[in-house]
Amino acid sequence: MSRPRKVHVKSFGCQMNVYDSHRMADTLAPAGYAEAALPEDADLVILNTCHIREKAAEKVYSEIGRIRVIKEAAATEGRRMLIAVAGCVAQAEGEEIIRRAGAVDLVVGSQNYHRLPQLVARAADGEKVVETEFPVEDKFAALAAPRRDIIQRRGVTSFVTVQEGCDKFCTFCVVPYTRGAEVSRPVSQIVGEVERLADGGVREITLIGQNVNAYHGPGDDGAGWSLGRLLRRLARVPGIARLRYTTSHPRDMADDLVAAHAELPELMPCVHLPVQSGSDRVLAAMNRRHTRDDYFAVIRRLRDARPDLALSSDFIVGFPGETETDFRDTLALIEDVGFASAYSFMYSSRPGTPAADMHDQVPHEEKAERLQRLQALITRQQRAFNARQAGCTLDVLLEKPGKLTGQLVGKSPYLQAVQVMAPRLAIGSIARVTITEVGSNSLFGALAEGHPAPQLAAAGA
Ligand code: SAM
Ligand code: SF4
Repeated sequence: MSRPRKVHVKSFGCQMNVYDSHRMADTLAPAGYAEAALPEDADLVILNTCHIREKAAEKVYSEIGRIRVIKEAAATEGRRMLIAVAGCVAQAEGEEIIRRAGAVDLVVGSQNYHRLPQLVARAADGEKVVETEFPVEDKFAALAAPRRDIIQRRGVTSFVTVQEGCDKFCTFCVVPYTRGAEVSRPVSQIVGEVERLADGGVREITLIGQNVNAYHGPGDDGAGWSLGRLLRRLARVPGIARLRYTTSHPRDMADDLVAAHAELPELMPCVHLPVQSGSDRVLAAMNRRHTRDDYFAVIRRLRDARPDLALSSDFIVGFPGETETDFRDTLALIEDVGFASAYSFMYSSRPGTPAADMHDQVPHEEKAERLQRLQALITRQQRAFNARQAGCTLDVLLEKPGKLTGQLVGKSPYLQAVQVMAPRLAIGSIARVTITEVGSNSLFGALAEGHPAPQLAAAGA
């Protein structure tokens, strides 16, 4: 029998890539590939790339340079290593990657992961393989499911992609080009995957998609299900205690999804709702198809349903033509809403997108200065949000051991990291924790009187 082969997958970018990386490893497992924690131990290294901003692609090229050195060292020991580039840079740049980085053996776009075993076999035969088509077959149905022991190793929280691609065409964004048109997975496929994960000990599922609340996958009844309906169904899967979803678009926040926040105890009180800018002029130039007032209206509906909701967002500063007044509108929006956290980026010109050709590109120094002001405001809000938890008792899903003996680290309902001494509790249980100290990156607490937390009833119980 041949020596077991090993694959190391490194993810860049968003949660969708983390999920895809797991599914790539799962698909290669039946072909005899075990996962390697380090590239040095691997026969196949896959870089799962992100193309959302310019620097992200540059990072990939420098990473290829690092892996090439490892590949050359392996060759001197008589061992052959293959390098594959997957994800959105692969989709966008295709053959260019092999031209620019000759050490790469395989370029595979985001819609072709289910074909990896055949593509890798071709690359192993010496062919330089580039596969970036959008095939007609259902990639998700063709991807192998993870084994139970692998699910257990990956921990008690998991992402599940329910929707891919985007039809919104914001003028700054490459996603509609790299991930293609919006597609929703069928309900039965998602329920099956969540049941399998729950059977392997997963307690929290985050449903992911570039535009997750536009989900409209077919149910067995032939009807298109909304995200709200899907969440209600998944809340009944035995063992699943917590549900989250990300990333949402303000235009797709349907009433039944908002209502789910009031009705479902399993649905965690967090919504990531990117707004990008607080200026109507900039929002229109971005083709966001909503105004700042529309955004405020969505926030009001959400907070009416769930007053303690933790809101987070994405912001782009220095979009072409953004003036100081536009930027101040963004700061004012942040002040008005009050966020628990946010991601913020300097606008990065992406070739092929409409904004790349717009006049009035904002100079780098101005973008950097605005980003700093915006991040300072968000940091203040984040600290204030965390400080409000001091003295409160929260349910914490325990995810992994902490640094100290007997210490466990978990997440609050609001996605805050919480550290607690709980030597007798198992990972995967939900502890009631009273917050005693608020640090800059984590909350610290002690098990509350009356612990353990009431565990959610299993489905159908
Ligand atoms: N679908 C989500 C939405 O509607 O906002 C987000 C998808 S995108 C993968 C994640 C974030 O990257 C965006 O919300 C945006 O803030 C940022 N982003 C996308 N393109 C960008 C660009 N060209 N320059 C800077 N940031 C960008
Ligand atoms: Fe990109 Fe999100 Fe806009 Fe779609 S909605 S184009 S993913 S920023």
